Amino acid sequence: MELETLNRVRPVLYIVVPCYNEEEVLPETAKRLREKIRGLISAGEVDGNSRVLFVNDGSRDRTWEMIETLSRADRLFGGVKLSRNRGHQNALLAGLMTAKGLCDCAISMDADLQDDIGAVDGMLREYKNGSDIVYGVRSSRETDTFFKRFTAEGFYKLLRAMGVEVVFNHADYRLMSRRALAGLASYREVNLFLRGIVPQIGYKSSTVAYARAERFTGESKYPLKKMLALAWDGITSFSVKPVGLLLAFGILLTAGAAASGIICLVVHLATGALTGVSAVLVSIWLACGLILSGLGLVGEYIGKIYGEVKDRPRYIVEAVTLDPGKKEAEEENGDGIHAG
Ligand code: UDP
Ligand code: MG
Repeated sequence: MELETLNRVRPVLYIVVPCYNEEEVLPETAKRLREKIRGLISAGEVDGNSRVLFVNDGSRDRTWEMIETLSRADRLFGGVKLSRNRGHQNALLAGLMTAKGLCDCAISMDADLQDDIGAVDGMLREYKNGSDIVYGVRSSRETDTFFKRFTAEGFYKLLRAMGVEVVFNHADYRLMSRRALAGLASYREVNLFLRGIVPQIGYKSSTVAYARAERFTGESKYPLKKMLALAWDGITSFSVKPVGLLLAFGILLTAGAAASGIICLVVHLATGALTGVSAVLVSIWLACGLILSGLGLVGEYIGKIYGEVKDRPRYIVEAVTLDPGKKEAEEENGDGIHAG
């Protein structure tokens, strides 16, 4: 896993493509990816063992049959079949984890050719310059509908506001080195939001801009419902800020109610003007504030438990330079540790 073993000159490249009911686009996607990889191999840019790995995410159409046919006809293609539909993020992870032990770097991209294949060259260049993670970043959204653009950009802004570290306008089109994949493998959480996890892995990273095209054919497999679910996963898997807001609001409410209580009391003692109604109102607000603060406080602890349960790696070591000088001492001792 050390730097030296990463082949940065002529790497084995795996292109990982999750596919859900993509029979319409698959032939064209396979053709273009074949051309791309063949070109890179003959130019000496990548190793001859580079592959395209399709992941069939429980498609109900002929997607898997097509992947099988492709991989029988040409060893350039490989396939992973999930037992059922597990969603884009899980399908992608399955592909990346399959590629992990077999490649020097892997690029993930969508099956519908919306991600410009041309950006692969830029990603490889950045990898060869020492980056372990290269993010494909959309330079424009002209081809998206207004609704898609609005919701997608709102998605990134909301995540940022909630303190989730995400790369703006980067979906899941990215290159990861083998050691970055090993880092990814150490995140064992089930609520998968790759765009949140990958920036946490560390190592040198860079971005490559590309223009996102329209879906080649077929329709989006990411309707609004799935997009909202993804955004929700992104926030709830990476941020306990909502709980913090609850606590802050509870404290504010308690403080406000207490202050009004004191004012009411002073006014009452001075003038005798206020009735029992204000006392009841103040008590209600005070009780609400205390309950909310209590919930927020309990939430803070649950947030901590949540963090522990996710069992994320606390750090990933990139390199060590150290001379423990132990060997020589053992040699002088003859038997080393067995002596005495
Ligand atoms: N996908 C998947 N499983 C799903 C939904 C989608 O593997 O349950 C794949 C899909 O085949 C495609 C990628 O995820 O390769 C992105 O989906 P899509 O292009 O429909 O999303 P959009 O570009 O509209 O956001
Ligand atoms: Mg798409």
